[in-house]
Amino acid sequence: MSNDPIQKINQRLSQIPKAYKGIYKKAVQGKSLRAAVNAQCLECTGWQRKEITLCTAKACPLYAIRPYQEILQDGHNEAFSAVESKNSEQGYIG
Ligand code: SF4
Repeated sequence: MSNDPIQKINQRLSQIPKAYKGIYKKAVQGKSLRAAVNAQCLECTGWQRKEITLCTAKACPLYAIRPYQEILQDGHNEAFSAVESKNSEQGYIG
């Protein structure tokens, strides 16, 4: 396995659902702490946002600030949907 960080990032990006690639990319570029938290929670749950809402790990350092704590009746969290939408358009590193 390569030690090249860009190659590792691109390898991981290839395994991330399209809707979340932009969040991950923004996080690993160090552009946003919010994106880093969101990406970590998404990765923790296998990229299943509903599982973040249902997270019970109150001892986790990210628990209090995790995304998707409240899902609207239409199934979307407006604040994070906007971030996802914007980020998913940014594509891959490299
Ligand atoms: S808050 Fe929950 S979903 Fe987020 S990283 Fe911690 S355990 Fe995982």
